[in-house]
Amino acid sequence: MINTVLGPISEDELGITLMHEHIVVDITGAEKSLEKSYTVKEVVDYVLPFLMDAKDKGCQTIVEATPLGLGRDLKVLIECSKRSGLNIITCTGAWDGADVRGLSVPMDIQEMTIEEVTDVWTKEFEQGIGDTGIKPGYIKMALGDEGKIFPLQEKMLRAAARTSNKTGMFIACHIWASVSLPLVVEILEEENVPYDRFIWVHADGQMDMDKILEYGKKGIWLEFDTIGAAKDFVKFPPAIKKLQEEGLISQLLFGQDSGSFWVKDDNEDWPMRPYARFFNEFIPFCEKEGLEKEFLLQILKENSKSVLR
Ligand SMILES: [Zn+2]
Repeated sequence: MINTVLGPISEDELGITLMHEHIVVDITGAEKSLEKSYTVKEVVDYVLPFLMDAKDKGCQTIVEATPLGLGRDLKVLIECSKRSGLNIITCTGAWDGADVRGLSVPMDIQEMTIEEVTDVWTKEFEQGIGDTGIKPGYIKMALGDEGKIFPLQEKMLRAAARTSNKTGMFIACHIWASVSLPLVVEILEEENVPYDRFIWVHADGQMDMDKILEYGKKGIWLEFDTIGAAKDFVKFPPAIKKLQEEGLISQLLFGQDSGSFWVKDDNEDWPMRPYARFFNEFIPFCEKEGLEKEFLLQILKENSKSVLR
């Protein structure tokens, strides 16, 4: 069974699944994000038409990629799932991407030991998040964007690894700088996490084909998910064809990093990235480059199912 915000579902109910989308993202920092400066209705009114467009195009499941500290909001996710009819999967974990240096990791988590963090995340999986009874479907991480793994990031990663080993949840880890991937994998190896329980989120960020192939061959999942913000899609078809040639298509996942309702400082401009872009723009572009629609939809269906179950 797979945990969604409305309870467990069977793998056959997943259908076409986008592996990396956001509904609310709060980039003002973990402590402020807990204050919730918006109403559920405000968010749902804003995002629902975009969710419905994706649903109308065939999407059935959204893997929501926002952990606690970056704005995870179960009330919003529940309402969006009920109103849209989409399955929504939430996560546990911690986000320390870009150069925020711990800004989006709650202070109490920062002060814990690896074992204590592992216990908190494992408890969310076993007993539900807070008193909601809702269980996460996976562990989200973000780190390494400055080309190294800071001590806080290493602590979070080891806690993610141990939580994964206890619960079976996979780890989806945002790593934009491909130079950080080997450092991350080394830590996962020390913690005995199987390769196929790890997704390289933003593998397409720098589209470093050497690293993609090298680590794909080890067995990690390769997620192409910058599609929502991409200026164009030129780099994608050749990379997908290369994975085909190398027999690695079964490890490819798609998401868009799309959304969201942004909670931010007023002077920042973060526009909505529509959830249906994959269907409305990406597939037609790829078709012109010789990739079939059905082939791309199978990746959204079968590969997503393989990692989620
Ligand atoms: Zn994201």
